[in-house]
Amino acid sequence: MSDEKSDEVDIMHNLKTVLAQIDAAVIRRSKDLPQIVPRLVAVSKIKPASLIIQAYEAGQRHFGENYVNELSEKANDQQILEKCKDIKWHFIGHLQTNKINKLLGSPGLYIVETVDSEKLADNLNKQWGKIRKEETKLNIMVQVNTSGEEAKNGIEPSQVTQLVEHVIKNCPNLDFKGLMTIGQYDYDHKAPNPDFLTLAKCRQEVCEKLNMDIKEVELSMGMSSDFEHAIELGATSVRVGTTIFGARPPKNN
Ligand SMILES: *Cc1c(COP(=O)(O)O)cnc(C)c1O
Repeated sequence: MSDEKSDEVDIMHNLKTVLAQIDAAVIRRSKDLPQIVPRLVAVSKIKPASLIIQAYEAGQRHFGENYVNELSEKANDQQILEKCKDIKWHFIGHLQTNKINKLLGSPGLYIVETVDSEKLADNLNKQWGKIRKEETKLNIMVQVNTSGEEAKNGIEPSQVTQLVEHVIKNCPNLDFKGLMTIGQYDYDHKAPNPDFLTLAKCRQEVCEKLNMDIKEVELSMGMSSDFEHAIELGATSVRVGTTIFGARPPKNN
């Protein structure tokens, strides 16, 4: 996190490279999929406000964080408030009930991508109704555990339609925007990533059963190592950290 090190990262160059890679991947995407230009979410976790501002000044607007405290701190950072007035924060981590108010109170919060239970949806619906300043809805995505790994958060693929239906019918303060998965790391790319295929299949089912237009349901999937592949398989939003901001220090445990 030292500033000396941050200065070595050429954010503008990295952003340009990633955006070019996104454009190239869009051309390879199957023509059967909705032809949506994918949104780039710059994942800034552990990185300082100075780098976020650099990315913003290079044209980036959507940023992702996976801890509530860190998102809230950055969203309330004086420099960011002054220089990044149109910033859009994506919450992409596990959300605990006791952190909901702090998250919802963060200026510039754009979407909560990790709703994985009716209880969390109900809590967000209730609290957003109290906290919001205008009659806006809170954008949410439903997080799916596509890899079946117990340690991963997200709802089982078989339960997705039911949860989406619950949000649409019973959570008037929430706006359902799409499905999100983290998936398995280090997938070897020899065949289409099964996590991405599963998420696309979940969307298919949601749209058929709830009579929704596939173009209206986003797929948030793909990170630094596999965002191009994710786009080929239909990602409409990719979450890229390392390739833009440089490597993060390894986790301690
Ligand atoms: C950290 C993180 C990313 C970005 O990962 P990189 O490999 O650095 O691109 C994307 N999504 C989630 C949920 C993350 O926690």
